[in-house]
Amino acid sequence: TTIPTLSSLYTTLSLKPTSKSAHRPSPTLLTKISLFQGDITTLHLPNGAIVNAANKSLLGGGGVDGAIHRAAGPQLLEECRTLGGAKTGESKITGGWRLPSKHIIHTVGPIYHSGEIEEKASQLKSCYTTSLHLALTHGLRTIAFPSISTGIYGYPIVDATRIALGAVREVLDADANEDKVRVSVCVYGDKDKEVYESLLPEYFPPV
Ligand code: ADP
Repeated sequence: TTIPTLSSLYTTLSLKPTSKSAHRPSPTLLTKISLFQGDITTLHLPNGAIVNAANKSLLGGGGVDGAIHRAAGPQLLEECRTLGGAKTGESKITGGWRLPSKHIIHTVGPIYHSGEIEEKASQLKSCYTTSLHLALTHGLRTIAFPSISTGIYGYPIVDATRIALGAVREVLDADANEDKVRVSVCVYGDKDKEVYESLLPEYFPPV
């Protein structure tokens, strides 16, 4: 009898050499993402940040941006005036002021109905990755994201959720980042919650 080679073994077992198990998250990774429904301004993250879906001026606006500025108070606007705005896909950090969270990370999502779809997708992904990297470089333990661009900016929720979860997974997988930061997704509406609940196991499969 000949010793089967690895590739023939995989054929016998009808598995491809790059089986999905190689990409399974460790048990700890699964505990690093959670879903929360409600008002993001109420989250108490003394060693963390909530993310604001801001506009390029970084000087406040409607939706979650308005709610965050109202709850954080006028000193937030004062600090934001020193930032000089941000480009689409960029993120900048401020203090949390009156919020029960230490920091606010302001990120500028793309407006869906303008420009190339590939560009929108990479800008939205960049909102998540640049925010996560800011949290990591500031040694934050927790970061909570709203569903960026899916309100006034019109990004379809399923596409946006796939981009969000894919980006979070990618950053947590890199360089043992999973041990450094916990991620919370803060959904507001019931439909968004359903979409996240249905897609989460695909990006963070149970071990
Ligand atoms: P964008 O302009 O990026 O689309 P919006 O603020 O219009 O930002 O919407 C982004 C998401 O934030 C939407 O899903 C909206 O329902 C949600 N949202 C609005 N207010 C809050 C809040 N207080 N806490 C959490 N999420 C919120």
